[in-house]
Amino acid sequence: MSVKGTWSIILFALAIIIGAVVFFQNQQASGTEKKNVKQDTNYKNVEIVTLVNDGKFMRYAVNYPLFHQKELDDKIQSYANSALEHFKKTFSEAKDIDENKRFELNIDYDMVHYAKQSVAIHFTTYTYTGQQSGTTNHLTINFDFQKKNFLDTKDLFLPKTNYLKKLSYITYTELRKDKTLSKDQPLLQKGTAPTAQNFSQFALKEKYVEFYFPASQVAAEDLGSQTLAIKKTLLKDILKPEYMNKTKNKNEIKEPPPKRKAVKLPQKSKLDPNKKAIALTFDDGPNPATTTKILDALKVNKGHATFFVLGSRVQYYPGMLADILKGGNEIGNHSYNHPLLTRLPLKQAVKQVEDTQQLIEKASGYTPTHFRPPYGGTNQDINQAVDMKVSLWDVDPEDWKIRNSQQITSHVLSHAADGRTVLMHDIYDSSARAAVKIIHELTKQGYQLVTVSELEQLKKERIEQTPVQ
Ligand SMILES: [Zn+2]
Repeated sequence: MSVKGTWSIILFALAIIIGAVVFFQNQQASGTEKKNVKQDTNYKNVEIVTLVNDGKFMRYAVNYPLFHQKELDDKIQSYANSALEHFKKTFSEAKDIDENKRFELNIDYDMVHYAKQSVAIHFTTYTYTGQQSGTTNHLTINFDFQKKNFLDTKDLFLPKTNYLKKLSYITYTELRKDKTLSKDQPLLQKGTAPTAQNFSQFALKEKYVEFYFPASQVAAEDLGSQTLAIKKTLLKDILKPEYMNKTKNKNEIKEPPPKRKAVKLPQKSKLDPNKKAIALTFDDGPNPATTTKILDALKVNKGHATFFVLGSRVQYYPGMLADILKGGNEIGNHSYNHPLLTRLPLKQAVKQVEDTQQLIEKASGYTPTHFRPPYGGTNQDINQAVDMKVSLWDVDPEDWKIRNSQQITSHVLSHAADGRTVLMHDIYDSSARAAVKIIHELTKQGYQLVTVSELEQLKKERIEQTPVQ
């Protein structure tokens, strides 16, 4: 063999080796796809498809169900495949992928509901393509097996009913009960306004219609997505009968209870914006002997009041808080041990309020929204740091000084007027006796006795009612 021939063979062999190494490295980098199809053990007629790939620089796991129903299967496959194609394209176009920043795609699903009439599948897709953090997307598909079509919100409800308004009302009042969600009222109001878009993500279940609200629709983005399941019986005048139907909608397996649910229609406020209202407030308590007298009088007259309690006293009488709340009264925060907050370093002033807030929460599970600074003394820095509504007063009988029940009563009654807030102290017997008389008399005069929150709400309703001139 000539020298030239030998060299050719060596070069040829080298080329094969290099080629193999490159091929092997690519293979390792992007991996090999494994596909698996198996019967779902929970649901008959359902197959689970799994596509897995575990490469050095990228990996994915894609799971989806198939139902042997062409329209439905086509939609599911096209959803999964287009997400996968897009992910692979992003990977192939990426440069210098760090092994520690391995690309990742995860598609998983929950069979939220599977019955004769319809199925609801909730997909969760997680994608990571080298950024700071990955993104999670949700999609819920509802399919009607009988009608062979996908369901939009409007397909669930009877035409010519104002179903969006009803969904909006239930959702807003229900979500507002969650204190983390009620912090941003304008966003909650916007995110639950009666538009088709706000209620476009849902699952039709056996006993509930569950709505999904993506992050930042009804609450700040960092709180994540939110859900509310509305019991179908609350929707019976607007939901189409085929979706109410108990036998056709019976899920094949038992559905877990929803995380957050509305099972009763929210009660309309019993307050009448056209009737005069006054907010009685009691500071420095609780004190079982005297506070109870006031609570009894409120109960008899179906009235409410607000009790601005001290953290130090809550420690002694934690059980009193439940008694206060039972009748529909409100608890406010009046600091831990009554210092003039403006004289304290900011940190200590804030601690006075925060410690009290924690004590109240621990004793009653209730989180006050209103704060009344001792002596009414506060400033912008404190208000900002505390982040609660500051509640002051219009009528002050100086009951702590006079200690004469007759004089206190006549002062309050002669200064009472619609929309006012009265300051008293429930720790003195003279004040408690005066309060009992005041509660009876104001009720007789036609006043609604309301909490500070109710008074605010009432004033808001009155403004909304006033026609624009
Ligand atoms: Zn006080």
